[in-house]
Amino acid sequence: MRFLRHLFRCQRSAWLGFILACASLATLAGAPSLAAQTLDQAVLSSPSGERQVSLPNLLQPDDFAPAGGRVRYTLQIELPAPPAEPLGIYVSKVSLSGQLALNGQPLGACEPGPLEELRCLHRPYLFVPPVGLWQAGTNTIEVEVFANQRQMNGLAPVQVGSAQELDRGPYLRDRLLRVELIRALTWVSLCLGLLALAVAAILRTENVFLWFGLCSIVNALSNLNVLVSTPLVGFELFSWFIFSSRMVSVPLLLLTLLVFFERAGVAVRRGLVGYALLMPLIVWLGGNDRWLVVLLYVPLMALALAMVPAVIYWSWRSRQTVHAWVTLNYALLMLASVLDFLRLNGTGSFTGVYWITYAYTGLILLFGVMLMSRLASALISERELTAKLDLEVARQTADLKEANQRLAELSTTDPLTGIANRRQFDQTLAVEWKRAQRQQQPLSLLMLDVDMFKAYNDHYGHQAGDECLRAIAAALRSCCQRSGDLLARYGGEEFVLIADADQHGALQFAEKLRSAVEDIKLAHARSPSGQVTASIGLATLVPAPTTTPDTLLRLADEALYQAKADGRNRVRQAAA
Ligand code: GH3
Ligand code: MG
Ligand code: MG
Repeated sequence: MRFLRHLFRCQRSAWLGFILACASLATLAGAPSLAAQTLDQAVLSSPSGERQVSLPNLLQPDDFAPAGGRVRYTLQIELPAPPAEPLGIYVSKVSLSGQLALNGQPLGACEPGPLEELRCLHRPYLFVPPVGLWQAGTNTIEVEVFANQRQMNGLAPVQVGSAQELDRGPYLRDRLLRVELIRALTWVSLCLGLLALAVAAILRTENVFLWFGLCSIVNALSNLNVLVSTPLVGFELFSWFIFSSRMVSVPLLLLTLLVFFERAGVAVRRGLVGYALLMPLIVWLGGNDRWLVVLLYVPLMALALAMVPAVIYWSWRSRQTVHAWVTLNYALLMLASVLDFLRLNGTGSFTGVYWITYAYTGLILLFGVMLMSRLASALISERELTAKLDLEVARQTADLKEANQRLAELSTTDPLTGIANRRQFDQTLAVEWKRAQRQQQPLSLLMLDVDMFKAYNDHYGHQAGDECLRAIAAALRSCCQRSGDLLARYGGEEFVLIADADQHGALQFAEKLRSAVEDIKLAHARSPSGQVTASIGLATLVPAPTTTPDTLLRLADEALYQAKADGRNRVRQAAA
């Protein structure tokens, strides 16, 4: 409904234009043509003889052979003088087809081709003979009509007047209303139907689109009656096709309505679909008999009428605006069909306009707009949902990324000192060992152990011990500026350092580390030097087939043991 409201708001000027156009069309159509004369008397010549008739004239069964035949209407008009301007002969309806002659000169048929193969019954025609064919005094207009027993309408009143005025007046009005509007509605109905079927094929569960699509297409097909003047198939087949599509469209519309209001039970569905399939078969077997068609229509129309109060009740219960709109249009459709039935009988059925054609297509279009707006609002809410979801996913991804980063840091970092832990040391040693092996470069490992740290703990307490370890880690880290170096806590009060250095460089580095610890100048009451110191063992190897990272670790450890044995606070290097 939001969509509809939007449509109305945006297109206000277009609507206004449309209303003005309709109003001017009505004025135009209503303008009486002063020169026009309506001829409603004719002499009818048929196989049953000649007789005077009034127009519109309905033929009698014995006016032609059962398969169809030609009859002739002769009309006369008096002109005081030959006309100065072109005069038109306006034939608003001729059934099934007809051709004209003026004063014995043929003017042509309603459409090109032999009369027996034409269907002109739903279209208006304006003939404009050459001015020279008219004469002062009596002019004779002959209308030869082809009709058959199924379609016994003959000829509607004929108007003669200024060709220009007739063209702009009744001819324009009738052509717009009875041909162009129907043509436009037919195309819209066809396109909407195809669109709905495509939607039904994609959604599958939305039956309303399926029934609406079929109903809309069948409605468009049934309008071919108005639009086709020369059927490509035989008359019988064409009549059957039009009858059938008209009939099938009714159960399809009822199905669409029932599904739309969610009231279509399985039995009802089957019944209506069965009826829709059976009717064309029965009509075909019955030889397109009019009475058979009427008989088949009766229960359908009774059901359609009975649905009016039901639909009103359902939309009252649901309180949905879309339901109310459909109900209103459906009620109007039924009203139009009842009024058509009451208005258009006898000769009225010949000249009158069937409102139901417009009301039916109008309802179909309204349905189409409703369903499309339903799709549009589904799309909008889907977009909103996707946007919300995207935002949520982005937020969760960011959270996850942060958590992962923290987890990775935790798994590779020593929580007390903030430097790399044993795990990262092991990984880095393996990688660096391989790199040194590939490049046949020396790799050095320094192992540092805080001297007499147990005594420090005992004397100053465990917390002070932790502080001491943090201070040592910070001092060591400030010495490791090169990107290739990895400083790690090996465990307890032991630190390790992997350095991309040769023996000489590593020894210098070790000495720097040792003095860095000393330079912290942390008091250690139980150490002979009176302050915290550390011993370092280092080893350097160029990886060889006989050696592994463990060899490097073992050699560094042995050197460290030597440093301790030699009196602590010193560096010892494993022999190459
Ligand atoms: P040496 O000079 O021979 O290395 O003597 P040491 O006392 O340093 O060596 P020992 O292996 O006997 O003692 C190591 C001590 O380090 C024992 C333990 O209490 C202490 N220690 C290990 N990890 C931590 C820690 O995370 N925090 C604290 N405060 N103390 C630790
Ligand atoms: Mg130790
Ligand atoms: Mg120690």
